[in-house]
Amino acid sequence: MLEKILIANRGEIALRILRACREMGIATVAVHSEADRDLKHVRLADESVCIGPASSTESYLNVPAIISAAEVTDSGAIHPGYGFLSENADFAERVESSGFAFIGPRPETIRLMGDKVSAKKAMIAAGVPCVPGSGGALGDDPEENMRLAAEIGYPVIIKAAGGGGGRGMRVVHTEGSLLNSIAITRNEAKQFFANDALYMEKYLEHPRHVEFQVLADSHGNAVCLGERDCSMQRRHQKVIEEAPALGITPAMREEMIQRLNRACREIGYRGAGTFEFLFENDEFFFMEMNTRIQVEHPITEAITGIDLVREQINIAAGEHLSISQEDIRINGHAIECRINAEDPVKFFPSPGTVTQYHAPGGPGIRVDTHLYNGYTVPQYYDSMVAKLIAHGPTRDIAIARIRGALGEIVIDGIKTNIPLHIDLMNDTNFQKGGTNIHYLEKKLKTNP
Ligand code: ADP
Repeated sequence: MLEKILIANRGEIALRILRACREMGIATVAVHSEADRDLKHVRLADESVCIGPASSTESYLNVPAIISAAEVTDSGAIHPGYGFLSENADFAERVESSGFAFIGPRPETIRLMGDKVSAKKAMIAAGVPCVPGSGGALGDDPEENMRLAAEIGYPVIIKAAGGGGGRGMRVVHTEGSLLNSIAITRNEAKQFFANDALYMEKYLEHPRHVEFQVLADSHGNAVCLGERDCSMQRRHQKVIEEAPALGITPAMREEMIQRLNRACREIGYRGAGTFEFLFENDEFFFMEMNTRIQVEHPITEAITGIDLVREQINIAAGEHLSISQEDIRINGHAIECRINAEDPVKFFPSPGTVTQYHAPGGPGIRVDTHLYNGYTVPQYYDSMVAKLIAHGPTRDIAIARIRGALGEIVIDGIKTNIPLHIDLMNDTNFQKGGTNIHYLEKKLKTNP
């Protein structure tokens, strides 16, 4: 049993973790930057420690400061949330070697899956279908790379092995631009991810993004909680997610569940994780694994009734999974809208003070947010300020509920993308369902 958890994150996910701890009778330590003294979870935590200035590199990414905070507060474990240090294998190693439990996978698993080249190799070995591609890191031989691209077939996508957050990738449509694209992406990869390894994949033209949630304990047990469709994206960033995904038959789902549970056991996975796939013509192609809790986890919680953060904490405490695959039932449909502090048309960030905040309510509505009246959204971090989740017995009812909630929620003082979400909930193609990953960008281009 863990008695005290340090939450190495900020915003809504820090609050989500704090709430899980409170429910489980676990004490909490909030760590925060100088710009984040007024965060809601900092006020609610049992203890709080300021770990550095506003800049994330000096605070939320400052490993020695976080480890020291865990030491001085006598914490038993560290929850990294998502983003920041959540997928940093060196950090996980430091946490464990300093004597704390890391609420996440073993450092070596994070390392294996964090490098997209080694991750794909491991998945091929485990029998998980992958996007056809280079099968390893790209070399420097121009002719070999041209040959490879011709063999895969244009268009291809060049991706950074260490990439993330939708950055470090470039689509190449013709042979003429291949070498230049490789050079540019390599430079970016070096600059952003300190790892210039690249790989090449077939660029799928009309896929959907479908991902599967798994949970695995340290005793070799794994379960899969079904899938989510996250195809509504802008700049490779998810805007709306829903679960389950339309068009996935029970037989298709069952086959993926079997394969992914086996893959989890083969790589010795521990904790919550997500296998991300592109889905085209009824086929799944593995892209990457996220070795952490995800932003969109509440929609899976809604349709399965399983608290993913509680499970993460229990797994880190060395307990067995509380559920087996047979216990997992999918109930109804859930949708999440990511509400960002940004201009709804131009998408510029819109930090500032929230003069009025009113939460929506009603059956099936959940809001995960750290906003409150008078809270100032700082300019330094990610623009996501709230997640609005609706659950209903059917997809149509979930849409109706989230549309109602979007009309009810009030966030004044800053601009948000709520108008975009309202527009999308009234979009007949979204209502029909099954739109692909390019749908939103195309829609924004045709009627800006
Ligand atoms: P990140 O780690 O940056 O999120 P991913 O590998 O998960 O990178 O890819 C992010 C998004 O980029 C996907 O959801 C999809 O929209 C697009 N994408 C990635 N690989 C391909 C591909 N081979 N074909 C088409 N789209 C792709």
